[in-house]
Formats: sequence, structure tokens, C-alpha cells
Amino acid sequence: MADVRFDGVRKVYDNGQVAVHGASFDIADGELMVLVGPSGCGKSTLLRMVAGLEEISAGTLSIGGRVVNDVAPKDRDIAMVFQNYALYPHMTVAENLAFGLKLRGHDKAEIARRVQAAADMLGLDGMLDKLPRAMSGGQRQRVALGRALVREPAVFLLDEPLSNLDAKLRHSVRTEIAQLHRKLGTTMIYVTHDQVEAMTLGQRIVVLNDGVIQQIDTPMALYERP
Ligand code: ADP
Ligand code: ADP
Repeated sequence: MADVRFDGVRKVYDNGQVAVHGASFDIADGELMVLVGPSGCGKSTLLRMVAGLEEISAGTLSIGGRVVNDVAPKDRDIAMVFQNYALYPHMTVAENLAFGLKLRGHDKAEIARRVQAAADMLGLDGMLDKLPRAMSGGQRQRVALGRALVREPAVFLLDEPLSNLDAKLRHSVRTEIAQLHRKLGTTMIYVTHDQVEAMTLGQRIVVLNDGVIQQIDTPMALYERP
């Protein structure tokens, strides 16, 4: 479990584009925080800095009280879920779930335990021997969630995880993510451009525009004075 703290975090890309102008805010341990705003406002950049996939140009970023500016992605206690699933097509669901753990050198029994726990939690139990192409979009996105889950990270990062799903599936996977958050009680940072998604899912919401934080509040407070 870990809180996430942004202190004057700034991102300037090599071409001079300022994607994030000095963001300062805290995400509490166990909180589900949504980052929302139009395309290009800097949501992904913020998330990718937490993941360690983008360098931080100025300021400090802490996870669980540790400054992570110079910490490699694999050494951060995080796991990220991408919008395009990023599943290995030639591997079964079980192999997809186990792959990252094998790379990290976990032993067989521990991998089996974690894969089973993730499959139970996400209702993937009957699908462990299937290949991704034999599954629906919603099922594949659950496997993508499972791949993050097996890491047992302190912080989950989700980058528009519903954007490749049709409207009906979006609703059910969104509900599943909320349930997952309740069960695990871990910190989650969830990026979306969809205001309805933000309002239904977030415990608090960071509203971004043009790389600047406009508001940070609960859905209720944002609803009452938008
Ligand atoms: P969002 O996730 O809200 O759509 P991004 O964080 O992807 O926004 O992008 C924020 C801004 O930074 C945009 O203006 C985008 O074009 C720019 N940007 C993103 N990635 C890069 C990059 N690698 N190099 C230069 N500019 C980038
Ligand atoms: P998203 O906003 O969902 O990340 P994009 O299509 O904006 O999707 O970006 C896809 C990839 O391209 C990202 O890795 C991002 O960092 C990079 N990117 C986005 N904008 C720019 C840009 N202006 N220059 C270079 N790379 C960019």
C-alpha cells in the first residue's frame, strides 16, 4: 500500500512541449483517483511519470514516501494497465498472467498461487487455457487487469482501460474495476477523457486542462459546483 505525492512535478518534452506545468497534489493510500480532461491535456504524461516511463523534468514524485524520480519502472511498486491490452497472442491466458512473474524470478508455486488468485478475482477461472484471440474484448481486458493484479503492486495505474470496449462492456468492466478496488483496497490512478466515467468511478477527481490542474475534488463536490 502506498500514497503518491506530486510536488511541483513538471514535464517538458524534448521538442519544448510543456505537457505538465508544475503539478502538486497527493493521492492517499488506498484512494481511487481519476485524472480527467480532454485529449492532450497531460493525463497520460502524468501517469507515465508515475510508472517511470517518462522522465520528470522538475519537481519530485514520491510513492509510499520514497522519491522515485530516478527509480527504474521495474523497481517501483506499481503495475500499469494499458488501453490496448498488450497481451501476448501466442500465449494462453495462464501464460500471459504468469509471464511477468517468471521474468521477475518468482518460483513456480508462488506464480501458480498468484495466477489462481487473479483468475478467481476476475472470473477467468474457466479460461486459463484459452488464447487471447478466442476471447471477447471484455475478457481480454480482464486478462490485462489480471496481468497487473498478479504483480500485487501497491499502486495500480490504468490508462483509459475501457476505450477499446463497446458501450455495454464498458459498463461491466468499469463495475469490475470498482469492485476490484474495493476488494484490494490499493491505490489506483485511473486516466480517462470521459467525464461520466470519471464521476462514477473516482473517489476524487483531478481535472486537467492544457497541462494545468483546474480542480481536485470529490464527484459530489464537482457535481454541485462544476
Ligand atoms: P493526454 O493523455 O491527456 O491525451 P498527453 O499526456 O498524451 O495528453 O499529452 C500532453 C501533451 O504533450 C500533448 O500536447 C501531447 O501532444 C504532448 N506529448 C505527449 N507525448 C509527447 C512526446 N513524446 N513528445 C512531445 N510531445 C508529447
Ligand atoms: P495517448 O494520449 O492515449 O497516450 P497519443 O496518440 O496521444 O495517445 O500518444 C501515443 C504515443 O505517442 C504516446 O507514447 C505519446 O507519448 C506519444 N506522443 C503523443 N503526442 C506526441 C507528440 N506531439 N510528439 C511525439 N510523440 C507524441
